[in-house]
Amino acid sequence: MPFTQLQTELDERAALGLLRTRRTLDTPQSPHIIVDGKSYLAFCSNDYLGLAHHPQLITALQNGAQQWGVGAGAAHLVSGHFAPHHQLEMQLAEFVSKPAALLFSTGYMTNLGVVQALLGKADTVYADKLNHASLNDAMLLSRAQIKRYRHGDMAQLAEQLAQTQTGRKLIITDAVFSMDGDLAPLPELLALCEQFDAWLLVDDAHGFGVLGEQGRGSLAHFNLSSPRIIYMATLGKAAGVSGAFVAAEQVVIDTLINQARSYVYTTATPPALSVALLASLQLIKNGDDRRAHLQKLITQLRDGLADLAWSLMPSDTAIQPLLIGDNHQALKLSEGLRERGIWVAAIRPPTVPQGTARLRITLSEAHSEADVQQLIGALHELAC
Ligand SMILES: *Cc1c(COP(=O)(O)O)cnc(C)c1O
Repeated sequence: MPFTQLQTELDERAALGLLRTRRTLDTPQSPHIIVDGKSYLAFCSNDYLGLAHHPQLITALQNGAQQWGVGAGAAHLVSGHFAPHHQLEMQLAEFVSKPAALLFSTGYMTNLGVVQALLGKADTVYADKLNHASLNDAMLLSRAQIKRYRHGDMAQLAEQLAQTQTGRKLIITDAVFSMDGDLAPLPELLALCEQFDAWLLVDDAHGFGVLGEQGRGSLAHFNLSSPRIIYMATLGKAAGVSGAFVAAEQVVIDTLINQARSYVYTTATPPALSVALLASLQLIKNGDDRRAHLQKLITQLRDGLADLAWSLMPSDTAIQPLLIGDNHQALKLSEGLRERGIWVAAIRPPTVPQGTARLRITLSEAHSEADVQQLIGALHELAC
């Protein structure tokens, strides 16, 4: 039996400080949670606008379940496409200023489906080295030629684009890098797309709802609009629910409906979730106060940790990683915070490059200034 081999591999991971385990929440997602019977102040969710247990969304989900039941019962192309899905797609397309949108069950499945549907062996995909795992897996699945460029290195990307003579070209990038919090140079990327006749897939998992006017996302933040841009965002982070969508030209969306295997061969999400998401979209649109509060907390944290021996990585977003370097030290720090009733995830390789283990602090609108002050105080204690 190969079980001993599996166990040896797990033991090796543990010895390297890389074993991953889960903790079980006994309360809804919020800055103040109970985990295995103990209370924590948490800085690790992506619930940036504090919508994951918002009363209006709970009511919308309840009403959605009353009206539409619990399960979709089939894939979208069979008999699982419901009026709330359709309505949500229309509103999402309008919200991000694109002709059409398509809902997927998760962001991971969206990226797999989009890259696989648009590219084949004769085509080339260009990817930032710090892209999210789902984009990395997507390019492997597509079987396209792969070119990876150094994080944000537009000169290297331009060289790679210039070398490609035939086939379709697709640049794929996180808009807000999920483990670093910095923004991709989207205007420069779009300019390269125009110069080399390429498409740009923008993964706005961490920008949608947070950046841009009314939380319309990274494209609004940079004031960018182009048919070359294929926009995707997740609905389980700032939107507080679950799922994801792509917004693009109608011909792209029609291609995805026909070709994206992770769209075609899976059961549609419950229509009640779309009802909740329609309510979430309203809260996002009217969420200027929430975003202003979040921005204030970001400044407070950066100011408060400026004198620490470890430095925060350059980021203006809700993702504020504290660079530690060593895996064990990152774990130890995370453990020290936990003893003080604060929960911040230690992120280690392979999620981030070797030697760049970090505490990934994420802020939410639901945090108070006192919450952030508590984290600042605890990190100063642990630094001594
Ligand atoms: C979270 C995330 C995804 C995956 O989205 P899910 O809906 O959680 O599957 C994709 N891309 C990025 C950059 C993410 O952070």
